[in-house]
Amino acid sequence: MAYYANIIIDISHEKLDRAFQYRIPEALYAEISPGVCVEVPFGKGNRIRRGFVLEITDCAAYDPEKIKEIHALAKGSVAVETQLIALAAWMRKHYGATMNQALKTVIPVKKKTKAREKRMVCLCMEESEAQKWLAIFQKKHYTARARLLEELLQHKELSYALVTQKLHVAPNVIRALEEKQMLRVECEVEYRNPTGHLICRKEPVALNAMQRKAADAVISAMHQGVQGTYLLHGVTGSGKTEVYMELIADVVKAGKQAIVLIPEIALTYQTVVRFCSRFGERVSILNSRLSQGERYDQFLRAKNGGIDIMIGPRSALFTPFSKLGLIIIDEEHEGSYKSESVPKYHARETAIARAKLANASVVLGSATPSVDSYYKAMQGEYRLLRMQRRVAEKPLPICHITDLREELKNGNRSIFGRKLLALMKERLQKKQQIMLFLNRRGLMGFVSCRACGTVIKCPHCDVSLSLHKDNRLRCHYCGYEETAPSACPFCGSSYISGFSAGTQKIEEAVRKQFPDAKPIRMDFDTTRGKDSYEQILSAFKNQEADILIGTQMIVKGHDFPNVTLVGVLAADVSMYAADYRAAERTFQLLTQAAGRAGRGSLPGEVVIQTYNPQHYSIVTAKNQDYEAFYRQEIAVRKLLSYPPVSGLLLLLLTAKEEETAMATAEELAAFARGEQIVGLKIIGPASAVVGRVDDVYRRVIYFKHSDSRCLVELKDRMEGFLKETEEKSRAAVTFDFNPMNGP
Ligand code: ADP
Ligand code: ZN
Ligand code: ZN
Repeated sequence: MAYYANIIIDISHEKLDRAFQYRIPEALYAEISPGVCVEVPFGKGNRIRRGFVLEITDCAAYDPEKIKEIHALAKGSVAVETQLIALAAWMRKHYGATMNQALKTVIPVKKKTKAREKRMVCLCMEESEAQKWLAIFQKKHYTARARLLEELLQHKELSYALVTQKLHVAPNVIRALEEKQMLRVECEVEYRNPTGHLICRKEPVALNAMQRKAADAVISAMHQGVQGTYLLHGVTGSGKTEVYMELIADVVKAGKQAIVLIPEIALTYQTVVRFCSRFGERVSILNSRLSQGERYDQFLRAKNGGIDIMIGPRSALFTPFSKLGLIIIDEEHEGSYKSESVPKYHARETAIARAKLANASVVLGSATPSVDSYYKAMQGEYRLLRMQRRVAEKPLPICHITDLREELKNGNRSIFGRKLLALMKERLQKKQQIMLFLNRRGLMGFVSCRACGTVIKCPHCDVSLSLHKDNRLRCHYCGYEETAPSACPFCGSSYISGFSAGTQKIEEAVRKQFPDAKPIRMDFDTTRGKDSYEQILSAFKNQEADILIGTQMIVKGHDFPNVTLVGVLAADVSMYAADYRAAERTFQLLTQAAGRAGRGSLPGEVVIQTYNPQHYSIVTAKNQDYEAFYRQEIAVRKLLSYPPVSGLLLLLLTAKEEETAMATAEELAAFARGEQIVGLKIIGPASAVVGRVDDVYRRVIYFKHSDSRCLVELKDRMEGFLKETEEKSRAAVTFDFNPMNGP
């Protein structure tokens, strides 16, 4: 059998679709894999050019007789493209996507406008000679050439834009004169530097013993050439960022580069300034506020060696550093590290895959590590580093729990329990600041009893049922449904309903209770403008407001030294989202929220209001006891075969017609059953949480297996089946491994 390689000659985002097929000579079979750089005969003249292997196939794209053969492996050093293409191939395999979709994720988009590129046209011959040519052009009525030369004789250098736009000289005329070496076009690329204005170097702080130990563990392994993945579990304020910077300094000293991933939401001015003041202009950032051209510039700067450190959200992972030494993922538990579009990759796993290709190390950091990562650390796959205390021995805040059922019993139907109300009053008097936190993500329409805290759950899946407009409760894992009850099935109370309270409602309540207080609200509505997010935060920091009300946005990494009270208004909401990670999210949000209190010299207090004071995610968050939370949570995951103990694959089927979505779902479920994979559990098909979006119907199937490799294998077989039996009338199929946000 013959093997062929699809090869790309010109690697840029627009040209990724244009691969050419070549036969692989038998002698090279062992050496050809995605990413490898080869020499191939190209075009009519069969000029030898370099290209990168994208995919290998045994299926000829056209007449095999006419397919040319790969000439040789390219010599010289390994290009960073080789690494990125190999990474794309890995992503394609592990997350389910076409090679093209995977490539488009890792190869940066070229800027369309050459906005800041200054091109100059310069005369490069003696004046006398130029005069001679000018006469010739005039005689031959080459008016454009004559015009250009005349102008160049006067100014020697002209901007390219002026030549083409004001003098109306076409680019091909310029090129023709350039080929005759009469003039030269010089490019002076001005890279836009988004951090330029932030630079003011400061002496780094000296690490304390706890930080030193964590940093040295990584540094000494790196010096021995040992590549590893580390999980840095450090309580909020333990000084993780300083440890990251110490590691980066070491990597840069060795002539290598580092990528720092930070969730977009925490990528604030404060964070960026810290990195810039330590590393100066060798740092760049990527964030969603940069234009596409600016983003592309940052990638070029990285590739050309202009920077050593890239800070950014998920996509910064694909920075084309050729000597990558370290990848840091801060707040590694964050959901935003999972891509929502195909390939639905997780930055953590993908970072580890890239680090393996580059022989780099990975450091995952969090005060509340994901259960996934902690499990891997317990299994010995990651090395666990602990920082249990805050810098300068600042105590962790005191935490109170308010049982909202008791409040109701005592006739208090307000948003604030008595404890929170009393503490707020006191803080306002002392002119200290308060943060009130409401979790919005959880408002997914679960139904709970305000008298006893009972939440209506699926009898099969142990996740909450979601209330729909037709007054039916549905499970979005298995499809179970029932009519919403009008009284609590447990205590009979009629205070049973879908939970609803918004940040706006809270602001109104604050204004009513404390007419003299100055609240400021931060949520998706008040942060639409370009810099409004920063404005709200700095207004609060400057104490122009004394109460900050917000959603999960406000719990991330901000340092407000004057905040001494944090109130979590309804801790349960995230717990009952129809998602197996609900308890984990609740624990994380509570711990992170509590971490906001008492960062300055004054001690902090936290009030958690809940209908479920005895739930382990709340009790362990109150005690800031991650290990205790982890032990209980992992037991639940084991019992119910959820990740990380078991692999979970979500298949999402979307179609314009409901019947199509349903039929394809049934077809694939039947196919999976027919494969008879031992140990495979198939759940569903069912309607997705949001069953219809923009008139597209969505159905889901879940697959569980204790060995996630079996799920990758199942995905491969399904992809093969879909390809072989290609039918126009099918629903679109996407794969999502270990989904983050429910269906
Ligand atoms: P984390 O990232 O773990 O929340 P940070 O790195 O932001 O912690 O540190 C919290 C605060 O303590 C910051 O203001 C930081 O400048 C300060 N800090 C960290 N390490 C030290 C140290 N070794 N000496 C003095 N201050 C430190
Ligand atoms: Zn009840
Ligand atoms: Zn169910």
